[in-house]
Amino acid sequence: MVIGAPPSRRTLGAALLAAALASTATACSGAAGPDGGAPAPAAGRQAQDQGASGALNAYLDRVRKERAARVLAARKWGLARPPLEAPAPPAVKPKITTRKGFETHGKGLPPVFTTVPTKQKIVFLTIDDGAEKDPDLLRMMNELRIPYSAFLSDYVVKDDYGYFARMQKSQKSGVSLHNHTLNHRYLPGLSYEQQKREICGMQDVIEKRFGKRPPLFRPPYGNYNEDTLRAAKSCGVKAVPLWASEAFPDHMEWREWDRDLHPGDIVLTHFRGKEDWKGTMPDMIRRVMNVITSKGYAVAKLEDYV
Ligand SMILES: [Zn+2]
Repeated sequence: MVIGAPPSRRTLGAALLAAALASTATACSGAAGPDGGAPAPAAGRQAQDQGASGALNAYLDRVRKERAARVLAARKWGLARPPLEAPAPPAVKPKITTRKGFETHGKGLPPVFTTVPTKQKIVFLTIDDGAEKDPDLLRMMNELRIPYSAFLSDYVVKDDYGYFARMQKSQKSGVSLHNHTLNHRYLPGLSYEQQKREICGMQDVIEKRFGKRPPLFRPPYGNYNEDTLRAAKSCGVKAVPLWASEAFPDHMEWREWDRDLHPGDIVLTHFRGKEDWKGTMPDMIRRVMNVITSKGYAVAKLEDYV
């Protein structure tokens, strides 16, 4: 495939890339088979032979194959349309501040927010607690390449840490596991020391079981006070993301009066099964993805922005 002029220097001409990707999209939107044409020559060899335009071709080839795979996955999992491709995240993460009306008096505490400041048409998917451990969820999200973040509470996770270890490695860019306390208590009803045990104890569990101390913490039910934020800060929490809307297998619930998505909104849902709500995890994902995609949003990775 030959595309216009070769890109100058290291930066690809934005217009050129957009045009090339548009032709890729057309190629994938029809009756896309898994073949995508003959295999391309090895990227390294091609780059040597043709310079930057060869590298561009190899890149476009990979994008085209990923898109074709996503179209097939969307069909397999019953989505109305394939998920939209998230734009590249900003080179510098946005500055997150506490949402108006959610402040405490403490200075220098981790920010509490429901939406990430961005103009990009993206939202973030977060899944809480950990009771339902459906292997189909890992398969579905990996095949559709939908990023998400899990906020785990030890009392429902500890009977099968292995499931979440698999989740962590189930996508190329990794699924991040964050803190949702040891026992899912109503934190404002606890003393500072008790809250510290709940929050910092879970930091220790996640570090021990999954190898990383999480930077993000979400209080159960979204309820917290200044002690919560002080305790969280004391054991390494950087930010406290709440949510702007909540997804269920059969409906959405909205925090804002306009009952809509907004750029940077955090969407909450839960690890639940048919005993708890009207569907499976894939049913819930299908529903929320149909809402997100039909409104023109892509799902981005929260850790790229916070
Ligand atoms: Zn919860």
